[in-house]
This record gives sequence, structure tokens and C-alpha cells, in this order.
Amino acid sequence: VYLEQRFPPHDQTTNNSSNDHHHHQIESDLNICRLLESQGIPIALSNGRPDRDFGGLTKDSSKPLAIVHPLSAHQISAVLRTAAASPTLAVAARGNGHSIHGQASAHRGIVLDMPAMPSSGNVVVAVAGAGEVADVGAGATWEEVLKWCVGEHGMAPRSWTDYLGLTVGGTISNAGVSGQAFRHGPQSSNVMEMEVVTGNGEVVVCSERQNNELFFAVLGGLGQFGVITRATIALQPAPAMVKWIRVVYTEFSEFASDAEFIVTQPESDSFDYVEGFVFVNSDDPVNGWPSVPIGSGRGFDPAQLPRTAGPVLYCLELVLHYNKGDDSASVDKVVGPRLQRLRYCRDLKFEVDVSYMEFLLRVKHVEQKAVANGTWHTPHPWLNIFVSQRDIADFDRLIFKKILKDGIGGPMLVYPLIKSKWDSRTSVVLPEGEIFYIVALLRFSGPHNNGPTVDEMVAQNQEIIRCCAAHGFDFKLYLPHYRTTEQWKGHFGDQWSRFVERKSRFDPMAILAPGQRIFSRAH
Ligand code: FAD
Repeated sequence: VYLEQRFPPHDQTTNNSSNDHHHHQIESDLNICRLLESQGIPIALSNGRPDRDFGGLTKDSSKPLAIVHPLSAHQISAVLRTAAASPTLAVAARGNGHSIHGQASAHRGIVLDMPAMPSSGNVVVAVAGAGEVADVGAGATWEEVLKWCVGEHGMAPRSWTDYLGLTVGGTISNAGVSGQAFRHGPQSSNVMEMEVVTGNGEVVVCSERQNNELFFAVLGGLGQFGVITRATIALQPAPAMVKWIRVVYTEFSEFASDAEFIVTQPESDSFDYVEGFVFVNSDDPVNGWPSVPIGSGRGFDPAQLPRTAGPVLYCLELVLHYNKGDDSASVDKVVGPRLQRLRYCRDLKFEVDVSYMEFLLRVKHVEQKAVANGTWHTPHPWLNIFVSQRDIADFDRLIFKKILKDGIGGPMLVYPLIKSKWDSRTSVVLPEGEIFYIVALLRFSGPHNNGPTVDEMVAQNQEIIRCCAAHGFDFKLYLPHYRTTEQWKGHFGDQWSRFVERKSRFDPMAILAPGQRIFSRAH
């Protein structure tokens, strides 16, 4: 009861009678920003400019007072300690602002521009205990980490995201998931140590052994407990090449059981990357058959589909690592029997050999194309959900085959993950059961008025969440977005009290990451 009173539901509404008071408070908070500037902290007043993120949905509700370009963890500490003097000022670390709903912003608060930290791009590879690790600034992008580790040391992090323009601090504050997570867990399971500035302004080094409550709180902690300034990431030797394969299914049950079979095989009998996606059974260039082929080989021949095929089809995406010295016959000898056991449509297999770097940077081409056609900077009402294995077939039946049967103007990912690879001590919450699926609806809205409006896309997301709830599905939002404390309580379930305790310990004034709308500033 004490904690709930301390952290009342987030409320952004104001009424006329409180306007004067608000103006006075904003003026006083601006004076705090000026005070920080006088201490030599690089800070720019944002003069009411909205802070757009990748989602582009927050419109005018995300207007920070100032942006700090921190030079050190101690400067971040000074910002947090000074902000505590105000009853209202909140502070958000911002990675690259790839959030969808303003999670990295601070309305009328201070945003910390993490990539600006001078240590961000510096990646130091060292040997520590169990093996080689990379010590990286939290504002570094995974692309910087990749290029440095592979280019300079022939080593690579074990777990990735699909797109590498995201920051280390931003993804490990959520989880960081891609096709390697079934084996290595999410990126948050591959962090050995972090330097964190807590909401109290303390600079703390933490790991599984040292200050481990803070360590596990911050991983998947949605920016609520501290600002990560540095992280040590586990590495493995980087392969030179990958065989990248896509195979097509018409039946969800066969797609899902093959995917689950692969992710539960021992490493010596499996693949190094497993993802999957749903696509529309049509010639639509974005949502349909043309979205499947890879490499410059043949196109998608729909004549190869059995007549029983429904409105949507499924593609399993697999990768095997290999080295330069391996000739293609020996790689085929490994891949052949592993594919042989799967039940995909035999004539709908696509494959290409590319370098490891090229594979990991594959989404960069998508970004370049979207920038060129104007869809990178338009709104993206994305929805990411973890769905239990128990409910995924019903999810397919009710949602992919009905609500989403015409596609979403972008990829609809669905693939299995293994719960025991996720550390339950972190702040992430997952559905029950050892296997669960990630469903990622990566919507793009056109710059020209064709296709559904952004509001219609948002409404369809809500319809999907309502459908999951109405059918009693066991699911959790990934990169969650809620508006009220009640909804957050529902999200965290029996982990809510742990989350609140962690908040009261590491950020008792609720200064950090207000854009998540979990807690309100305490006076
Ligand atoms: P931001 O959006 O800037 O921040 C996210 C949250 O973390 C905010 O609450 C912020 O306050 C907090 N934060 C940021 N930095 C720090 C820090 N140093 N310390 C403490 N808190 C911090 N996710 C996946 O898991 N897998 C994918 O394959 C994947 N692909 C994506 C592709 C694209 C094109 C996009 C736009 C997003 C993708 N994401 C993916 C989602 C991504 O993980 C989130 O957007 C995440 O928020 C990281 O983005 P960011 O680094 O820009 O962080």
C-alpha cells in the first residue's frame, strides 16, 4: 500500500486552474537545466520541439525541456541528483529512439543522448574469466560492436537483434531478440557486467557476483532503475560465412513443429539461427510471395503450392555458420540431412551463401530502401507479443488467418524461443512454459495515402490484444506499452511486487524513464 501510494498512476492531464502552477514549475525546471549548463554539462534546451521516435505516434505529448549530451557517468549522476531537487523533473536515457510509444522520452523533462557519450563507439575486447568479452559504451550501436569485434578481432557477440542500428543500452533494457536467442538467450542473457548510474545518482559496477540486485533489475528493466553507461558482452569466434535458407510451409502445424524440433536439437544437429514469418498467399510485392526469395536466384513459383494452401503461408528461415576453408560440398553435407527431416514444400526452398557480416547487416538494406521511398520516417505502429506455445495455434487461426490475412505492409515474424535461456532474475516477464513464440508485427505506413491509416493500424493492434485476452491466451507484450498502473500490474503479474521493490530501492523518486508510464514522479 505504501509503495502504491508513493507511485500513483501516471496522469498527464492538467486543468485550467493548475496552469499557472505548471508554468511556474516549468520555469523552475528550466532554471535547473541552466544550472547544469553552468556546471559544464553539455545541455541544449529543446524549446518545445517534440521528440519523435521510430513509432512516431506520440505527436505532441513528448516534448522534453532539454537534451543532455553527457561526457561521463559522473555527469549523468550530476543530472540525476540535480533533477531530484525538482518535484517534477524526470530524466530518460535515449538510445537511438527506436521505441514506438515515446518510451525513451521525458515530457517536460531531460533526455540523455546516450550515443553522444565519448566512450560509446569505443569497443575494447579483453579476456575475462570464461572467455573473450567486449567492453562497450551503452550508446554504441550493435553495428559498431559488430564491425569492431569482427573486423579487429574475429570475434562476435553471440546474440543479436535483426536490425543493428539499435543501441546496446536500449536493447538490453528490453531483451534483444533474434534468430540466435533460442540457443544463447536474448542479448540481456549475454551481459557479463555493467556500469550503471542509479536513479539515486550512484555510479555502480554490477554483475552476477557484484551488486547483483541492480544487475538483474536493470536487464529488461525498461530503463526504470538506472542509466547503463557501459556493458561487457560475451563473445564467440565469428564465422566467416553463413548459408542462409528459407523454406515454405502451407500448414502452420507443420511449420511450428519443425521450428520447435530444430530449436530443441543439440547444437551439433541444429542450425545457428532460426526465425520464421507469415506471408500472404498472393503476388502482393510487400506482403506476398515476392517477400520470400533471397539471393539473386529464382523467384517464387506459386504453381509449386499445394491446392490446399490457405490465405497465409509460412516461411522458416535458417542459417548455418561455416568458415572460409569449408568447401560447399562439405557444407551441403551438413545441411542436407538437417533439412531432409523437415516437412516444407519441397520445391519452395531458397538459399544463398553470404558473409557473416553481410547476413547480420541484412536489415540495413531494408532501412536504406525505406529511407529512399519515404517509409522509414513515417509512423510505425509496431506490435510485439510473446505468446505461449499452448496458444500459438489458436493465435494463427484467429489472428494470422483472419485479422491479418491481408498482411500489414511489413514483416509478420513468428518463431519459437526457449524460456530456460532467459534468466528469471532479470526484470523481463514471459508466458508460462519452456517454449513460447515471439510475434512481431512490423508495420510500415506509406507516405502516400494508400493502404490503411495509422489510426486503423493502431486499432487493429488493439483488436489483436483484445482477441488474445478474450480467448484467455497466455501472452506478454514485448517492448510493452501501457497507460495505467493497473495495466502494468497485469503485465508483470506475480513479478509486480519485485518490480516495485526494485524501483523503491534504485529510483525511489521515480525520476527515470517516465515515457514508459509505469510510475509518476514522487516529490
Ligand atoms: P530507445 O528506444 O532509445 O530506448 C528504449 C528504452 O530503453 C527507453 O525506455 C530508454 O529510456 C531506455 N534506455 C535506452 N538506453 C538506455 C541506457 N543506456 N540505460 C538505461 N536505459 C536506457 N528488438 C529486438 O529485440 N529484436 C529485433 O530484431 C529488433 N529489431 C528492430 C528493428 C527496428 C527497425 C526497430 C526500430 C526496432 C527493433 N527492435 C528490435 C526494438 C528495439 O529493441 C527497441 O526499439 C529498443 O528500444 C532499442 O532501441 P534504442 O536503442 O533506440 O532504444
